[in-house]
Amino acid sequence: MSIVVFVSNTKGKINKAGLEAICYAADVAKDSGDSVTAVTAGSVEGDGGAGAYGASKLLVGASVNHSDSTQVTNMVNAVISDEGANMIVTSHDNDGKQVAPRLAAKLNCGIVTGVTGLPDTSSGFTVKKNVFSGKAIAQVSISSDKKILAILPNSHGLHEQGGSAEVSAWTGDAGAASVTVKEVKVQESSVVPLPEAELVVSAGRGMKGPENWGMIEELATELGATTACSRPVADIGWRPHHEHVGQTGVAIRPNLYIAVGISGAIQHLAGVNGSKKIVVVNTDPEAPFFKAADYGIIGDAFEVVPKLVAAAKAFNASK
Ligand SMILES: Cc1cc2nc3c(=O)[nH]c(=O)nc-3n(C[C@H](O)[C@H](O)[C@H](O)COP(=O)(O)OP(=O)(O)OC[C@H]3O[C@@H](n4cnc5c(N)ncnc54)[C@H](O)[C@@H]3O)c2cc1C
Repeated sequence: MSIVVFVSNTKGKINKAGLEAICYAADVAKDSGDSVTAVTAGSVEGDGGAGAYGASKLLVGASVNHSDSTQVTNMVNAVISDEGANMIVTSHDNDGKQVAPRLAAKLNCGIVTGVTGLPDTSSGFTVKKNVFSGKAIAQVSISSDKKILAILPNSHGLHEQGGSAEVSAWTGDAGAASVTVKEVKVQESSVVPLPEAELVVSAGRGMKGPENWGMIEELATELGATTACSRPVADIGWRPHHEHVGQTGVAIRPNLYIAVGISGAIQHLAGVNGSKKIVVVNTDPEAPFFKAADYGIIGDAFEVVPKLVAAAKAFNASK
């Protein structure tokens, strides 16, 4: 039997969150003895990296509109039926959030979204997920035969397992289009998108104004990091909204999160407390963020950040 993994792709490449979902399924399959079949809407180059992360097969629905969740759901549903799969895995990213609940309704089966760990099958089938803005962990059991798991991005990690996937075209009927795409605009950027970033430099109201963001951008450039910000900073227009992280913004789990002049309110922490290492720069020793920090610098951003930039420049020059 196979585990079916729905992955999305951009410009012919499977997204990092999708590769992580494949990795997760491959790790489950090591115990269950299943194989992993990935399925994607829209064309990909080669196997898109699916094989390297553990898929033995990649089905490509080149004519399926990836913006049309109904069509994508129909395609994945057909693949589940063809493969006789009982486990369906996807990422809890934007596309996974559209498709996974629709599949659960169609299949009338149990679903857990935001999964953060491999299943415990010692007694039934239980997985972990974060709840209450990451303040607690829930253990959720699924009792239906078919099970859908949507994996929280960056919670499982990527590890290459070698191999390449056999690529086949999916030529089934995904039904009539319910969405017409008139134009696709892909934002060209050399910077890693925030949800996929391993290194993030973020700043808040402590920066006093948008004119002071130069040093934050400079630090990010030297580190090869992506910039982020707290919500009020985006709300008052100092930074673009797509940089806002937290409960109501983007949820990230980078390897390193540097927070400058951010108080560390619970709603902000909800989106960043899965970061592997957190560095906080704040003038207030009582700032709540220090409780979540791995490294804290009590100091003025306008003195500390230029020193960090200089240190990063010196390090880069020495390489
Ligand atoms: C329903 C709801 C949802 C929300 N969702 C989000 C969310 O998704 N994301 C989010 O970020 N917020 C969210 N908020 C807002 C959140 O509660 C906080 O108000 C917000 O995170 C505070 O932003 P801040 O830390 O930039 O600003 P402030 O709270 O004003 O903190 C600024 C910090 O900078 C420090 N500082 C000042 N000067 C300097 C200096 N020179 N050098 C270094 N440090 C300095 C201060 O000591 C302070 O700790 C939400 C609120 C609600 C009610």
